[in-house]
Amino acid sequence: MSIVTVLLLLASVLAVCFFARRTAPKKQGRGERFMKKRLSNKVARYGRFHAHWCPGCEQMHMIPMQADGGWEWDGNPVMPSYRPSVIADGAIRCHYTITRGQIHFASDSEHTMAGRTVILPDLPVDRFVDQTSSE
Ligand SMILES: [Zn+2]
Repeated sequence: MSIVTVLLLLASVLAVCFFARRTAPKKQGRGERFMKKRLSNKVARYGRFHAHWCPGCEQMHMIPMQADGGWEWDGNPVMPSYRPSVIADGAIRCHYTITRGQIHFASDSEHTMAGRTVILPDLPVDRFVDQTSSE
């Protein structure tokens, strides 16, 4: 076995170790990723997402959080702000920003609330009820 072969072997072992570490699950409880937690009447945490009720689509929208390459949240759960704007392309296009607890729909949204700004509605009571997190 030549020195080059040994070095290549060593490099690939190191690469595998590095990759394994990168892809290893983050240190968190198994249930945490999918834990639903109401942060306020307006937003709930759903694992790595924040969820809120969209009065335009009449359904929940999920916003990925910045820690996972998603949106910036100002830390205020009662009158939240998120940046940048969110585009939810479901059955219809919904394009909006949330600033200090108000949701502003861009004019290119395809529902009747396009162009309007309203107070972010409360979460529906039947969803996003606190889970008891004792596993
Ligand atoms: Zn929507």
